[in-house]
Amino acid sequence: MFNKILIANRGEIALRVICAAKDLGIRTVAVYSEADRHSLHVRFADEAVCIGPAKSTRSYLDIPSVISAAEITNVDAIHPGYGFLSENADFAEVCEMSGIKFIGPRPDVTRLMGMKQQARAAMKAAGVPILPGSEGVLSSAEEGLEMAARVGYPVILKAVAGGGGRGMRVVREAAELPGLLAQAQSEAGAAFSVPDVYLEKYVGAPRHIEFQVLADEHGNVEVLGERECSIQRRHQKLIEEAPSPAVSPKLRKRIIESLKKALGDIGYSNAGTVEFLMDEDESLYFIEVNARIQVEHPVTEMITGVDLVKAQIRIASGEKLDTIITEPIQLRGHAIECRINAEHPETFAPCPGRITGLNLPGGAGVRVDTAAYTDGVIPPYYDSMIAKLIVHGRDREEARARMRRALDMFVVEGIYTSIPLHKRIIDHPDFIDARLDTNFMARMLAKAAH
Ligand code: ADP
Repeated sequence: MFNKILIANRGEIALRVICAAKDLGIRTVAVYSEADRHSLHVRFADEAVCIGPAKSTRSYLDIPSVISAAEITNVDAIHPGYGFLSENADFAEVCEMSGIKFIGPRPDVTRLMGMKQQARAAMKAAGVPILPGSEGVLSSAEEGLEMAARVGYPVILKAVAGGGGRGMRVVREAAELPGLLAQAQSEAGAAFSVPDVYLEKYVGAPRHIEFQVLADEHGNVEVLGERECSIQRRHQKLIEEAPSPAVSPKLRKRIIESLKKALGDIGYSNAGTVEFLMDEDESLYFIEVNARIQVEHPVTEMITGVDLVKAQIRIASGEKLDTIITEPIQLRGHAIECRINAEHPETFAPCPGRITGLNLPGGAGVRVDTAAYTDGVIPPYYDSMIAKLIVHGRDREEARARMRRALDMFVVEGIYTSIPLHKRIIDHPDFIDARLDTNFMARMLAKAAH
């Protein structure tokens, strides 16, 4: 096992990794920007190194600075958290070359998963259902038109190197396709330096459902059920739950079997998430793999009892999966997570600033992952998520009731947060009845505006 690891991240996820390392008896090194000098991850790590100014391109994203910090503190491994360098295959390679273990998949696997049309082909080859669409990159508008005619409109054009919903265009009829293809290509080129675009069938009101995977470095793969993340605003998830109310035991079993084969064939290792869309017929179709730990991992931890971050560290140290997961995975009860953002609950404008008062909810079945504290300052430079409120109940309704009372007892003073918005969602009749799809928020907000 490792003696010391560096956490190349900030905020709640840096603290989350510190907790896992402490539970394993591993020493920790925090890195921080000048804006994060007084952060809790700096306070609770055994050592801390300042790696640059507030701007993340000059600190948390600066590979030479992170590697230097790892070298001077003599760590064995680096945990990248999510975001920042977590899916940067070049960074994982530099770690490898510097003799530092990167806690995540191999760089070649991360690179393959980052090229979405290749990931699509790899999944298809292993029997995972994908949406009908192009086999590879679209070479011309003519090819796009031919393909769209075959799968039927609407279709969606997507950047192969995409992320954060950029480089995507929905095409409703043939006449629009050449123009939208050019737009998608130029947006993708500007955002990802790769202009390549592929095409797939567009699903009108899908549910977003994703499966949590753990794989060791000896070819063993486990799938820890799914999460439903259909409550999104502009492709950003707001609420996640596990299990999905829409996945039957039979469908779950089928997808898990196909994913075990696919990820085994790919040579996947460490934690990952395989994302799907569910259409109105309740069929699931693969869309992409996220080769990292995700924000919403705690809902899976609550229903499986598996500490996913500890598992990541143990896997990276070479342990076999059957020593980490010693009993068949069982899904117990229901968990819900609300992402609490520092933003105005109606205008969604970011709201950094000083937290003048804070009460974190507790009691049975409640977990809060946060790096916020009274008198702490939320800097304007980073993501606006300041806390994750996670609840667990015997069933969905018990979890929902716990979420409602925990939101009532969650007090943040000095800045606006999304807590009032979450209360509205949790009380919404469609949420109560689990009638969920990715247009839920747009519908709820449009109705409130009238
Ligand atoms: P990114 O990596 O940019 O986040 P994804 O492939 O994960 O891209 O897609 C992001 C979101 O875009 C999905 O959660 C879904 O809401 C929407 N989306 C993507 N592909 C489709 C599709 N074929 N049909 C309908 N919506 C889609």
